[in-house]
Amino acid sequence: MNNQPETVCQGIAASSGYAIGRVCFVRQNGNFYLEPVDSSITPEQISVEIEAFHTALDAARNGILKLQEELRNKAEAHDVGIFDAQLLITDDQLLTREVEQMIANELKPADYAFFKVVEKFVAAIAVMPDNYIKERTADIRDVAARVLHHLQDNSSGNIEYDDQRIILAHDLTPSDTAALDRRRVLGFAVETGSATSHTAILARSMQLPAVLGIPGDFLEKVKDNDMLILDGYSGKLILHPTRETEAEYRRKMEATLIFFHKLAEEKRLSAETRDGFVLQLSGNIENVDDIDTVHEYGGCGIGLFRSEYMFLNSSGLPSEEEQLDIYCSMLSKMKNEPVVVRTLDIGGDKLDQALQRYAEPNPFLGLRGVRFCLKERPDIFRTQLRALLRAGTYGNLRVMLPMVSCVEEILEVKALISELQEELYHEHIEHALHLPIGAMIETPAAALLAAPLAKVVDFFSIGTNDLVQYTLAADRTNERVNYLDMPTHPAVLTLIANTIAVARRHNIWVSVCGQIAGDPRFTPLLVGLGVHELSMPPALIGPVRRVIRNLQMADAELAAIEVLECETPARALDISMQMLRSAAPEIADLVAPASDN
Ligand code: PEP
Ligand code: MG
Repeated sequence: MNNQPETVCQGIAASSGYAIGRVCFVRQNGNFYLEPVDSSITPEQISVEIEAFHTALDAARNGILKLQEELRNKAEAHDVGIFDAQLLITDDQLLTREVEQMIANELKPADYAFFKVVEKFVAAIAVMPDNYIKERTADIRDVAARVLHHLQDNSSGNIEYDDQRIILAHDLTPSDTAALDRRRVLGFAVETGSATSHTAILARSMQLPAVLGIPGDFLEKVKDNDMLILDGYSGKLILHPTRETEAEYRRKMEATLIFFHKLAEEKRLSAETRDGFVLQLSGNIENVDDIDTVHEYGGCGIGLFRSEYMFLNSSGLPSEEEQLDIYCSMLSKMKNEPVVVRTLDIGGDKLDQALQRYAEPNPFLGLRGVRFCLKERPDIFRTQLRALLRAGTYGNLRVMLPMVSCVEEILEVKALISELQEELYHEHIEHALHLPIGAMIETPAAALLAAPLAKVVDFFSIGTNDLVQYTLAADRTNERVNYLDMPTHPAVLTLIANTIAVARRHNIWVSVCGQIAGDPRFTPLLVGLGVHELSMPPALIGPVRRVIRNLQMADAELAAIEVLECETPARALDISMQMLRSAAPEIADLVAPASDN
């Protein structure tokens, strides 16, 4: 019986949906485990627990060796040494003996004994004057998380570890998030990040409700196994909910489920305004397996395949043949519908120790996207472009370049493509003679240079996540400047409007693939500005389609003119929201809490 008071905390709504369940903390590297409870075992269980401990230790050691092997395939051998310190910990006799003694003498279960001994080691090291030694605490915790994860995964003890949990953590990197087991996770909340950080983007793709930017003092109040409600629509977390609150949320869950079922019945209808203007709605995917969800929700193509996850999730660099297979399988699944592959966008918050040899002081302003490909790893870029050229003969493939900031970058890539076409020709390998090339418009420079860029590319795709962060100079992963995540800021809207107007003047295709494309609050505005395509996480296509089908283009255009004259982001959003309310009030009700943030 819960007798602790209900506590509500407001974070940033990052991925819609509700989760009701018990908490599990992720402490390190995406390996989640529950803080072991102090319980006792019988003398007969001693040998079983000691054996379980050694099995978990071996599994952790093998995991580290595997990681080293993967790094060896991707990078220079010296990076591999980073994990040597961790291997030493798994082999530490002193630590192993102490754990065994605690199990045998104090009759403690293996996970609890190991946890306690590690805590003792960490406390002893943390007070040492030598900084190098102090920094080893991170390694110890990292190894400990691996061991505990294995121990609890295979536990036959008194806690059910295999039920579904709401994950709480200080931080989850995009790779941690991608590695979360969807069958075991109901949703997650973290202290860091904002609605456009890549962790949030993945949550939406994985259809996991998520709240980011939760205050640290709230996190401290929560313990493993506490009951929690996570509201991914409003960004609220409710700790120790009362029976009434839980019942209310179960009702909301049920109602939303019914609503989304109804929306699914409209999936074959086109995204056509009431006065006959048709937009293309397509899917953003990070993973080839997600392609089926694009069809499931009635998307007409892939508007953004974030190809970097092929590199982040794989052991070693994907070869030309492996990439060719992936691109071809996407093209064959999509029949003749367009598939836009964005070339490797490493950098920013998608960092990879193995690919990037240098840590940069400001990764978002460093060698990211096309800069990294051209300047740092042309070898990787050539492989990717060769695979894309070869795949280009199998379907409707388009290639998009991220983080463009000047015309020369496009020209350099086009020259490289010509060179690779020549190379493939001499090797007698079939390849596309023309591959449409697009620029992501996600830096203010690119938006201001839209006219010259339009002369050298075949299409634009506006990446509003980055466009907002670079225009307002506000790191999209930093929750402290989240209040500046303002897609309707007049400066941002001017850049978006300019890009769309230039594209239309030059007769090239223009889409929006940042997170506002899938947020119905912005749909009337984007339709009124004249965009051709909106590309979003597949599960968001239904609500956006419903809004478009209830809009009149003539009204949306007038509203867009009015919005462009607004001096404040709030006023501009207000106008778009008013249109949403009158066109599709049921959708406005669903997303309205998010606008309270
Ligand atoms: C964007 O910046 O809006 C975008 C779609 O790309 P990403 O979120 O991957 O940076
Ligand atoms: Mg971007």
